Amino acid sequence: MNERINVTRSSMPSFEEYCNEIKELWNSRILTNNGIKHQKFQKELEKLFGCENVVLYTNGHLALEGILSAFEFSKGSEVITTPFTFASTTQAIIRSGLTPVFCDINITDYTIDYLKIEELITDKTVAILPVNVYGNVCEFDKIEKIATKHNLKVIYDSAHAFNEKYNDLSVANYGNASMFSFHATKVFNTIEGGAVVFRDKHIKEKLESKKNFGISQNGEVEYVGGNSKMSEFQASMGICNLRHLDEEILKRKRVYERYFLNLKNIKGIHLNKIKEGLISNYAYFPVRFDGYKYTRDEIFEKLKDKNIFARKYFYPLTSDFSFCKQYKSNQLNNAKLVANTILTLPMFADLPIEKVDDICNIILN
Ligand SMILES: *Cc1c(COP(=O)(O)O)cnc(C)c1O
Repeated sequence: MNERINVTRSSMPSFEEYCNEIKELWNSRILTNNGIKHQKFQKELEKLFGCENVVLYTNGHLALEGILSAFEFSKGSEVITTPFTFASTTQAIIRSGLTPVFCDINITDYTIDYLKIEELITDKTVAILPVNVYGNVCEFDKIEKIATKHNLKVIYDSAHAFNEKYNDLSVANYGNASMFSFHATKVFNTIEGGAVVFRDKHIKEKLESKKNFGISQNGEVEYVGGNSKMSEFQASMGICNLRHLDEEILKRKRVYERYFLNLKNIKGIHLNKIKEGLISNYAYFPVRFDGYKYTRDEIFEKLKDKNIFARKYFYPLTSDFSFCKQYKSNQLNNAKLVANTILTLPMFADLPIEKVDDICNIILN
């Protein structure tokens, strides 16, 4: 049997590099609570994003809940969002006491269809929460225009879009806020981890306080915040992985280009083109099988038989999960079609080009 290939494989620095980074912690004995590594990592991200307002979290999901709570929307308010995402996006809305309202996606890059947003707006709507899915960026200008017109906040789930730039500006700088995930399976990881980047600097103190039980700098507890702090070990992993980020993305680009070359211009195989003006991070390689000689499920099985594990990502839609049945949506025709035909192929920096060819041969023959 061939060696198992998963859809993703975590990037890591060398063992020595990580050990070297965490060595100081054995002297300082400060393992969390905004220690030196946390501070350093946060500064490095602020530099990378080209902005001052970055707050770190122990994972991306809690980062999203953190930013939602900072806006203090009233309970039951509606948030227009996409069902073509990871369960986390929808759950963050519900756990924040808000109501998700699902909007269809477009068929080109699978982000929210901005033309269908306005029909969902009611007097309860407070925000739009789109996803920069697979690192494909949303129609930022169109969405933000709608938000301005109706006085809504825009919060992007940018879990897939780390280190991307659109029209020379970091993706982090669009909308009122953006969430990034540094989960082990993402382009860049801190083992578990996440961050929010936001426009209004006045909410920084609130976010910092809320991720640490609502304790403010004078020791008073103003908010019911809970605990979602990033530890020094996570931040150290981030510092190490940042050193290799450009190289990792370059390697992903090679994989992306090889897949594209092998699979382009084939009837029934739909690939994702990178939008003009976007500097991509090559996070995923999604393929839609629609009108091809094999269905998505058949391709999935064919690959599995060869010990290659692609992923039906995202299938089903979050709106089809049992926890979600009661929420409103518009016609989700595109979202349903994409969820039923999509497969993300193995994509990671160290995936050998010969393996990419093997995978494509299985799909094509
Ligand atoms: C990974 C992911 C999240 C959650 O991030 P975690 O760091 O795993 O908590 C949220 N949304 C999307 C689209 C994701 O892919």
